[in-house]
Amino acid sequence: MTTCTEHMHERLAALHERIAAARQRAGTGAAVTLVAVSKRQPAAAVAAAYAAGQRHFGENYVQEGVAKQAGLDAPEAVWHHIGPIQSNKCADIAAHFAWAQGVDRPRVAQRLARHATAEAPLQVCVQVNISGEASKSGVAPAGAAALCELVATLPALRLRGLMTIPEAGADETATRRAFEAMHRLYEDLRAQGHALDTLSMGMSDDFETAIAHGATMVRVGTALFGPRR
Ligand SMILES: *Cc1c(COP(=O)(O)O)cnc(C)c1O
Repeated sequence: MTTCTEHMHERLAALHERIAAARQRAGTGAAVTLVAVSKRQPAAAVAAAYAAGQRHFGENYVQEGVAKQAGLDAPEAVWHHIGPIQSNKCADIAAHFAWAQGVDRPRVAQRLARHATAEAPLQVCVQVNISGEASKSGVAPAGAAALCELVATLPALRLRGLMTIPEAGADETATRRAFEAMHRLYEDLRAQGHALDTLSMGMSDDFETAIAHGATMVRVGTALFGPRR
């Protein structure tokens, strides 16, 4: 059994190759940023990935992410908070993360903005519940434009794009449709004048499909680090 820190150079290179191949098949040429999702992975795994050149890291749990950051010497790391945001965590997210990818309601946008500054704005993706799951956080597609509008008016936030997590365990066709719908929404918002440059979608099991449908950022955990603790 290899641990999550062994062969990190090779694992990262293999992942970059898969991303490059997917980009080539998509034929768009758009750059794709890899966010290494390190939730429930030890700090040593992050350190190994950082030493191998990885810079963007994603964490879901604020306390875990902050503790991990504190134990690392990784000055160039860019930390993304991914997934649902509890409003009582907004101050910590603004203080310790460069990106907030789970902004899904006005109250959270306003709270994050209160704890960030225009000089060092928090990079924001609006999370969209594209599969319409009752249990899932994310703004409904029809509400995305208004939330983007609000984020864009807050100087302490910088609107970057949209993020989604399609329904887990859905068949490939449903996942593909969800990514297609996200891509359409993203392009529609851009056409309406929203300055978006990030479409964050695709995880270990489906990042190649997401890239085929216009993802510019993929969030990959287990395919890089192995199973979580
Ligand atoms: C855990 C998580 C990921 C990574 O999932 P893997 O299947 O391990 O690649 C990506 N995005 C979000 C929002 C997550 O919570």
